[in-house]
Amino acid sequence: MKYLDEFSNPELAKRLLDQIHAATTKPWAIMEVCGGQTHSIIRHGIDQLLPDQIEMIHGPGCPVCVTPLEIIDKALAIAAQPGVIFCSFGDMLRVPGSTQDLFHIKSAGGDIRVVYSPLDALTIAKDNPDREVVFFGIGFETTAPANAMTVYQAKKQGIKNFSLLVSHVLVPPAIAAIMESPTCRVQAFLAAGHVCSVMGTGEYPPLAEKYKVPMVVTGFEPLDILEGIRRTVLQLESGRHELENAYPRAVTSEGNSPAQAMLAEIFEVTDRTWRGIGMIPKSGWQLSRAYLDFDAELRFSVSDIHTAESSICRSGEVLQGLIKPNECAAFGKECTPRNPLGATMVSSEGACAAYYLYRRLEQPAAASHA
Ligand code: SF4
Repeated sequence: MKYLDEFSNPELAKRLLDQIHAATTKPWAIMEVCGGQTHSIIRHGIDQLLPDQIEMIHGPGCPVCVTPLEIIDKALAIAAQPGVIFCSFGDMLRVPGSTQDLFHIKSAGGDIRVVYSPLDALTIAKDNPDREVVFFGIGFETTAPANAMTVYQAKKQGIKNFSLLVSHVLVPPAIAAIMESPTCRVQAFLAAGHVCSVMGTGEYPPLAEKYKVPMVVTGFEPLDILEGIRRTVLQLESGRHELENAYPRAVTSEGNSPAQAMLAEIFEVTDRTWRGIGMIPKSGWQLSRAYLDFDAELRFSVSDIHTAESSICRSGEVLQGLIKPNECAAFGKECTPRNPLGATMVSSEGACAAYYLYRRLEQPAAASHA
């Protein structure tokens, strides 16, 4: 299939791998930021084809995985209220809250609906004027524009029975937090191509300069990943730390200006708690003052719900690249995709789910770094 096969060509992959092997003379730890990249790396065995000196660290770029337990509990509290239609993308339904998940609410009679777009939730609100319709708005700069547009349309069309439970997070502050952690081992980043397709690349050169790390904007197919790694290794080996765009078929330096304008209209930057990482200053979006009427947290008075993370689940260490998923004692035993203890085992982009799908028969490569 065009656009997929051509970026999985084995001969070109071998050529790129040969160049990576030829260029690598020292050990390097490279973080792929996005969960989609993690799945591509594990699924295609890319990390096993790299030189032994190169370690791929799986970063916090899976939107479901970094959504804190507290927000899940708020979603559950809203969804259980009579008269509410709670709309979400499907992968949030099995994310465990502190005592149950959205499937449990649904089986107890809650009206939980899986939608493919937040605009579908707005249509449901229009069709059910006597019900309160809530959309669970999670994710990075990639999913936020559609959610922003939905709130904009709700206000413009005077649809008052729609609200958004917002848990949007931003990549650049997370990169800064990773680099400032005393346990940080990351020496370079594959930046997330789809995030940059929306936001452009302007936020990354200052990070590359401040932390002296190469950053290469990278796509998701095997050749994209290999090209991102090749360029990253060339920078590391030559002592450079620059932003490069290895995904020009989707990413421009300016990004998507109309999407950015919509985001600036609807949201404002706020501190956000990331699952397993904790609070990162100015690392997310909340609805701006002009759109607070559409804030589900305020409408349903759930702002006071505060939840501590699970003591068993080590997804925070996984998300910071401190351990590999199969170094968690619960991996594949108490914790499986059918019975997930943490979000990184639920989401199709989660590192634990990727290791369960493709690596669960392997022994952990090394002892925990934690
Ligand atoms: S294997 Fe399960 S319990 Fe362990 S870190 Fe991953 S999600 Fe958490």
